[in-house]
Amino acid sequence: MDDGLELSPELLSAWTRAIDERLGTFLRELSSSPAASHDPPSRGAQEELRKAAPEQGSSLETILDFLFREIIPPSLNTAGPGYLAYVPGGGLPSAALAEYIAAIVNRYTGVWAAAPAAVELETQAIRWLAELLGMAPGSLGVMTTGGSISNLIAVIAAREKLLGRSIERGTIYVSQEVHHSLLKAARTAGIPPENVRSIPVDDTFRMAIDPLVEQIRADRTAGFLPFFVCASAGTVNTGAMDPIDAIADVAEEEGIWLHVDGAYGGFFRLVPELAPLFRGVERADSFAVDPHKGLFLAYGTGLLLARDVEDLRGAFGGAAPYLPRMQSGSEHLDFCELTPELSRDWRGLRLWLPFKLHGVSAFRDALREKRALTLRAFETLSAEPDVDIAAPPELSLFAFRQRLPARGRDEENLHNRALLDRINARGRIYLTGTTLRGELWLRFIVLHLRTHADRVDEGVAIIQEELARARGR
Ligand SMILES: *Cc1c(COP(=O)(O)O)cnc(C)c1O
Repeated sequence: MDDGLELSPELLSAWTRAIDERLGTFLRELSSSPAASHDPPSRGAQEELRKAAPEQGSSLETILDFLFREIIPPSLNTAGPGYLAYVPGGGLPSAALAEYIAAIVNRYTGVWAAAPAAVELETQAIRWLAELLGMAPGSLGVMTTGGSISNLIAVIAAREKLLGRSIERGTIYVSQEVHHSLLKAARTAGIPPENVRSIPVDDTFRMAIDPLVEQIRADRTAGFLPFFVCASAGTVNTGAMDPIDAIADVAEEEGIWLHVDGAYGGFFRLVPELAPLFRGVERADSFAVDPHKGLFLAYGTGLLLARDVEDLRGAFGGAAPYLPRMQSGSEHLDFCELTPELSRDWRGLRLWLPFKLHGVSAFRDALREKRALTLRAFETLSAEPDVDIAAPPELSLFAFRQRLPARGRDEENLHNRALLDRINARGRIYLTGTTLRGELWLRFIVLHLRTHADRVDEGVAIIQEELARARGR
């Protein structure tokens, strides 16, 4: 052990090399590791995890052994190529290097004056994305820890701008397929849960426009204050893209805030062929995207883009006598005025560095690849005679199930649950299910950095084998 808490440069390099070696092994073994483990922590690990805080330190090697043998393995293999569950991302190594630099130099990026160049580097990364993702010129925003917080910030900014103190009468509009984080956001923002209007979807699970308009009108007549509508750019159940442009028409007409939740699908806007699906995003007041999904970063990085950053400052701005003077206008941003946070990590570096190292084209190509692989899987599985697909994939996700003719819904649901378990038990891909209109469906989603054609083809072959096995019963 070194003296005290500081590490000498020599020791720091030695420890970094030791960690690198473990990570190298981890990465090399990813493709042969199980796609998911549901084992609990071992008995030994559980004992260790209940021990009191150590009075004295122990060796790095002992600690790394514990982490890599006992702590990391029992888990969904969210860094591995077989992870086709929930919404994957992967864990981009170049962004991890940015985290390392940011943590060692420890620049303070809550206020511009504390590290103006570092803050402007982060601002530049945000500006790049606002432009690349088709937001209105001049849009900026703030990096968050994820989509849930981005959605919350959007609801609060809209509330402050449009409702003022009339919170109890405010109503927000989401589709039946909206991510539950919007419901949490509304509740956290003080909007009564019964004021969240769940708008029906069409048969491809996209928000239906007529019921939206009717609900807003009815609410106005009843004395409510409609102020926020959320369009989903890729739902997590079926990957549906709400008709953003049509929702923007309604929002404009009604004078309400248009938020686009693109936490899953937003980065597909980088792929020119898919840009038409995002028509209308240039009219959005805010757009949430999750770099820890669509840009493959490790968990902990979200981004809320805003057409007018003053809307965020209106909700979260505020000076204090013990802080440096805040900036005004959108030339220099104080991030602490755009979110509830004050102290924060230098998140911007983990967007900026990967873009500088790999170029935007590398991300665009990767997203195009994920989309093409999804289509390939969709085409193969939709050719199976007894497989239903909820809706053709618009991005990189579709839901499917095996039909059992002449059986009841309950039996069919149990059957598909068992099918999901058997596919996952093979250990090569990990899928999750969902419920749509009372039916259990399996989801197939390709958005992992390390998922390529070989694993998708292997996964589809496994699904086909398990479908065939079920027919033989
Ligand atoms: C993942 C997701 C969220 C929540 O984002 P977190 O980063 O997990 O907080 C919200 N909406 C959609 C559509 C998502 O896919």
